Amino acid sequence: VSPELESRLFDAYPELYRARLGAENVAIKTLGIECGDGWFHLLADLSEELVESAIRAGRRTSQSDWPAIVQVKQKFGGLRVYLGLPDDRYTPILESYRLKSHKTCEECGQPGETGRSSHGVITACSNHRTTHKKTKGNIRPIWMEFANTSASNPVLLERSHPMINAMTEGRKEIMAQEIIFDRVSVHPWIGSNYSHPIFLRHRTLILGESNYTEPHLFGKNLVLNCVLDDIDTESKDRDTTGFCKFATKIRRVIFGRNTSITPGDFWNDVAYYNFIQYLVGGKSRERPTQQMWTDSIPAFEAVVSAIEPERILVLGKGNWTNLLGQLVHRPINETTSALEIGGRTILSGYIFHPSSGRGFSYAKWQPVAMQLLKPKDIEQVNS
Ligand SMILES: [Zn+2]
Repeated sequence: VSPELESRLFDAYPELYRARLGAENVAIKTLGIECGDGWFHLLADLSEELVESAIRAGRRTSQSDWPAIVQVKQKFGGLRVYLGLPDDRYTPILESYRLKSHKTCEECGQPGETGRSSHGVITACSNHRTTHKKTKGNIRPIWMEFANTSASNPVLLERSHPMINAMTEGRKEIMAQEIIFDRVSVHPWIGSNYSHPIFLRHRTLILGESNYTEPHLFGKNLVLNCVLDDIDTESKDRDTTGFCKFATKIRRVIFGRNTSITPGDFWNDVAYYNFIQYLVGGKSRERPTQQMWTDSIPAFEAVVSAIEPERILVLGKGNWTNLLGQLVHRPINETTSALEIGGRTILSGYIFHPSSGRGFSYAKWQPVAMQLLKPKDIEQVNS
């Protein structure tokens, strides 16, 4: 933020930002607040909430257990605030502002969206997608990268929509994405190497089952944010219990239990999408209704037509049974079928859902996943 805004924050919360004057060379002292002005109001509210929470806990500003912010930065398009002494009491506050920042333009504070730019992942409004200070070129929503590089399917940009033709290139991509996924309430993750994977032999879509979260977090960037959190292995506030735990199991079932492939390697190679397009609940014990299974088919077909996977790894037997019940298919063996989707035949198979409570057997499911996806020998790829 600008020096003026930074001093306003430091003056309003001197004890919270006291590390800037301390003996240790922490980031807040050496680099100041490392994010754009658009997030100033988020930081001001976050600071206020931290102070209120500390007061409620009976902390005093004169004591060393008063929270001390040691770093504020933008990472993967989100606002990250780190405390000198991590304390679980404050984690929900920091997390709620990280999530708010993913919907707030870092430049101007207007509603924004997270996407990939030439300088990494940023969050910007439609006006600042091309002029974001960290962006030299146009911001490209991650899910568009494949569509723009796909020679076989000029699917999106050829749809001649009168509004699209009148727009700049950057805006066109975003419009096209909104049109193609207009029936999709939670957008797929599409890795930057998805069209030319490094560790797999085919364009691979991993099909999860349901979206589970708090109602206020349910939105089109839900999967995107979960994946970015899994990739950000250095983060102190990474949630290793939910999605990251599940992601580790998928990575291991495809590449082997002792694989050295990182979350970043893995996610950049694949696309990921949850089939059920409704908020099923907060916990994976809650089950989708039959109506939800049926109504989610058009969105699934739209995603498959847009990204043209060559392989689909389906997670969960219920998910698989539903697909076989609704799509034309040719069975190949007990776990594999050729599915007809949008005029294309796609070799697909299922494994038990790695989060299923019955205990997940690598011995049983790893051969199924490997047979379908044919991962490359990691040592060969890296040498
Ligand atoms: Zn903006």
